[in-house]
Amino acid sequence: MSVIVLVEHTEGSIKKKSLEAVQYATSIAQKTGTTVSAIVLGTLPNDEMENLGQYGAHKVLNVPDARLNELHPRAYTTALLTAAQQEASKIIIMLHDINGRAVAPRVAGKLKAGLVAGALSYPDLDKGFVIKKAVFSGKAFAHVNITSDVKVITLIPNTFQLNKGEGKASIEKLDVNFSDNDFGITVKEVNKIKGEIPLADAQLVVSGGRGLKGPENWGILEDLAKELGAATACSRPVADAHWRPHHEHVGQTGGTVRPDLYIAVGISGAIQHLAGVNGSKNIVVINKDPEAPFFKAANYGVVGDALEVLPKLTEAVKKFRQNHK
Ligand SMILES: Cc1cc2nc3c(=O)[nH]c(=O)nc-3n(C[C@H](O)[C@H](O)[C@H](O)COP(=O)(O)OP(=O)(O)OC[C@H]3O[C@@H](n4cnc5c(N)ncnc54)[C@H](O)[C@@H]3O)c2cc1C
Repeated sequence: MSVIVLVEHTEGSIKKKSLEAVQYATSIAQKTGTTVSAIVLGTLPNDEMENLGQYGAHKVLNVPDARLNELHPRAYTTALLTAAQQEASKIIIMLHDINGRAVAPRVAGKLKAGLVAGALSYPDLDKGFVIKKAVFSGKAFAHVNITSDVKVITLIPNTFQLNKGEGKASIEKLDVNFSDNDFGITVKEVNKIKGEIPLADAQLVVSGGRGLKGPENWGILEDLAKELGAATACSRPVADAHWRPHHEHVGQTGGTVRPDLYIAVGISGAIQHLAGVNGSKNIVVINKDPEAPFFKAANYGVVGDALEVLPKLTEAVKKFRQNHK
């Protein structure tokens, strides 16, 4: 019996957020006296898979079918059900991202398992199997006890501190009987955003709202982001007005970020925006209105005109970096 965890990879490398998931699985396995089997779907170099041992995986079950390098929810579900049966797994872990959201409910449904979608804590085993998750767009937390025999958990990325250890996982091929139906959805084209820091994984984010007045002013925000090595994001009206691409929109109807630092420039701080960013470890707000609601959620605030504050901040960061080379 092992805890199984779905590992995501791209361009031959395992995603950092999946290392968090493996480590999370390891913590549960240690507490429940079992081991971790990492499920790698698709093709990945052996050393990448073996390195999952550094985060506690005992073995890797690999399905080396290149079609699985892209998300096929039905095929992923079939593979996970096969792995769960082979390993007699009672605990199945995925990420709360596009893959996990598509696959976890299917797996939970098939196994009649309780599902916690969007876990923010390790399970409290003293109280049963109680996991904390955000509810009501991040306005409150629920502590959910999974009482079913089989448990499925999806984790919010960037929540759990990574600690790399020693070790090598063994690799085994997992044989899965896929049906044509498993690949019934055809991926015709994949457009990956190139040359930018991926927003979902970013540790630093500089984000702009309508207070920046128009797309012609985004250069000063990008200058700061570049100087910091940060990803850029925006509020929904900014994306709706096509000032910025929609993949940068964060909030209730956009992406969720949990960086170490979120700098919000000319954003009012509406609840729908906060829903996507209030897991940030530090929030800095720049707004000309001292009454802007975002200041209530901020660790640091600057009351001022963004068009004046941003260039000065970028200059200060530049100087600081030059003096601390
Ligand atoms: C169902 C629903 C879902 C939604 N989902 C989302 C979502 O996912 N994400 C999201 O962002 N919004 C979402 N919204 C919209 C949300 O309610 C707000 O309308 C939106 O976040 C406001 O965007 P904003 O702060 O950029 O603009 P505004 O509300 O117009 O605020 C602009 C801010 O900039 C400040 N400002 C103006 N000039 C300057 C200046 N020169 N320098 C500094 N500051 C300045 C102003 O004081 C103000 O605080 C949703 C709304 C609904 C109803």
